[in-house]
Amino acid sequence: MVRLHHQDDRRERRKGEADGIADKGSPGRLGASSVGGIQRVAGGWRAGGDDLESRRAPGRVDGKLKPNEERWSRIRPGPARSGSPECIVSSGPPKTVLVFNYHRVGAETAGDPFSMLHTVSLGALRRQVRLLARLGPFVSLDQIRDGRGLGRLSFAITFDDVSGTILSAATFLRERSIPFAICPCTELTDRGFGVRDKVYWVVRLLPEQELREAVRKAAGQEVVAGGKGFSFYRFTKRPDLDADWLETEIIDPLLAGIQGAERRMAEAGAYLNWRDIRRSFCGQSDGLVTIVNHGWRHRPMDRFTEEQVAEDVERSAERFRQELGMEPAWYAVPFGRASASLAARLAAALRPRGYRGILWVGRSGYAAGGEGTGLIHIPRIQAPRGLWRLLRRLPSYVKRRAASALDAVAAESAE
Ligand SMILES: [Zn+2]
Repeated sequence: MVRLHHQDDRRERRKGEADGIADKGSPGRLGASSVGGIQRVAGGWRAGGDDLESRRAPGRVDGKLKPNEERWSRIRPGPARSGSPECIVSSGPPKTVLVFNYHRVGAETAGDPFSMLHTVSLGALRRQVRLLARLGPFVSLDQIRDGRGLGRLSFAITFDDVSGTILSAATFLRERSIPFAICPCTELTDRGFGVRDKVYWVVRLLPEQELREAVRKAAGQEVVAGGKGFSFYRFTKRPDLDADWLETEIIDPLLAGIQGAERRMAEAGAYLNWRDIRRSFCGQSDGLVTIVNHGWRHRPMDRFTEEQVAEDVERSAERFRQELGMEPAWYAVPFGRASASLAARLAAALRPRGYRGILWVGRSGYAAGGEGTGLIHIPRIQAPRGLWRLLRRLPSYVKRRAASALDAVAAESAE
């Protein structure tokens, strides 16, 4: 039985408001808002007592730093005190963790279909991490679950699909002793591409008229009616479509029109293979990497029966055991939008295998400690592309924090 709402969350919200965590803007602080120890004040931001200015301060230029880094170099942690992000609170309300999920890390190359996957530049990731590190500690998934080493505001990083582009980012994080998780989807790791990549290739390499015609033939005129409003990309994400039918009746026949597409996709090295993962992420003594099961086929699982969910879990787990000699204790749901029915089916499959938590994707932070010690449901945030966008959205991530991804999605859909 999955709860969508519970009393603890309401209690925690009230407590959060009392602690200035909710975005209320207290009287006397004109136009200000405060979240998790970060305050928006007139003309800038304040964290741990120092301004995160949105303007350059004249006369304080450090020639070694780029403009953005220069701005952030002036954010000093300040002394730990009650209410500052650096103050580790040992009791009181649950602590907020923002888990940022990345996919590709690098440049978006014009014409490269793989770069249609969510992409953040390496520079942006570095700037984001440097900024966040000033606001609170980076923690591992196990630390979130066990409540170890959390600040009032903490951060975590995951890489879904394990793109071949994440190695530099991983090195950057390791050099700073920042824990992170990689989430291989076993079909992508085995073959080097998946259904979504087929869609990217079809969208990038075939004329739109051909895509529209293929959909009209397979699904009917009314689906493509509306002319300019039709998007093949969006069409393939419709949750009401049968994924097998979509792939075999529409996507694969279109892909067959691109010469050598599957071979070219496999050879492109878009995703790390098992050997790459073993070499880069297994057997390291620093203990910074968590390996997460991201499923077998990377399908929208909402429509899966309990048996199909169990089969996907079993087949992916088997590949982890064969290739890495281990089975992950964490599961990242493909596509990731939380639903109570899928959560229940996944829990039935994962709990007996000793999994510790399920990772979803939403727009909320996670209020750690509210779910007890069972299988926990952590909402993650798709990492924004730039530093400023991340900074602008931080207050809403914290404000929306929820004690479970299921609570988060219920609150987000009520907005
Ligand atoms: Zn994925």
